[in-house]
Amino acid sequence: MSITVKNLTYIYDQGMPFESRALDDVSFEIKDGDFVGLIGHTGSGKSTLIQHMNGLLKPSSGQILINGFDITEKNLNLTEIRKRVGVVFQYPEYQLFEETIEKDIAFGPSNLGLDEEEISRRVKESMKSVGLDYETYKDKSPFELSGGQKRRVAIAGVIAMEPEVLILDEPTAGLDPGGREEIFSLIKDLHDRKNITVILSSHSMDDMARLSKTLIVMNRGKVEFMGSPRE
Ligand code: ATP
Ligand code: MG
Repeated sequence: MSITVKNLTYIYDQGMPFESRALDDVSFEIKDGDFVGLIGHTGSGKSTLIQHMNGLLKPSSGQILINGFDITEKNLNLTEIRKRVGVVFQYPEYQLFEETIEKDIAFGPSNLGLDEEEISRRVKESMKSVGLDYETYKDKSPFELSGGQKRRVAIAGVIAMEPEVLILDEPTAGLDPGGREEIFSLIKDLHDRKNITVILSSHSMDDMARLSKTLIVMNRGKVEFMGSPRE
């Protein structure tokens, strides 16, 4: 799916003396099937942008269109966004809340009006995609997992929605190099197998230049550069 961001501005605490313009007239277009690395210093606006991509934040002004469908519209049902766009946030533990891993992953799909069999198929398939053995992990609590495993569960919950856009905010923060490579390769594999459009935010120019087809560089709430890593 293509993504069009049009003149997106977001101001935290708008109207207060300490208001903060986290996104300042951001516009860009991402093509269907692209693999985008979103980089920028701390505070440049990456997470603020990503939180708009699944309706968690509504813009102060501007729009985001997914294949022409406006996801920033004020009264939109969040399920309408989340079956199109899957977002794994910077702190994935905030996305885990059920007492077992199986229930956590089934939560999203169970809001889509699917039958039990289909939900169960999706839970098993998405656990497999992130390298978690179903029988071993299904009844475990997501809270007793390591950081890397929690992230895998959060990713599984998002891909069980079968979105056409997958967005991950610093998915390898806090992992060792081996854990990083595992997460990157599972994302790459999902992208290659299903031709999902992927956006990955990171501080690491090296990792993003190596993995992405397109780089977006943010600086102080603006897009400073967009193009191929070679450029
Ligand atoms: P990092 O690499 O550290 O994750 P980021 O690029 O994701 O940084 P954001 O978290 O989007 O940056 O922050 C962009 C700007 O918005 C910063 O100036 C930040 O201080 C401000 N900001 C972020 N969240 C809030 C909030 N909840 N309330 C007020 N200001 C905020
Ligand atoms: Mg961030």
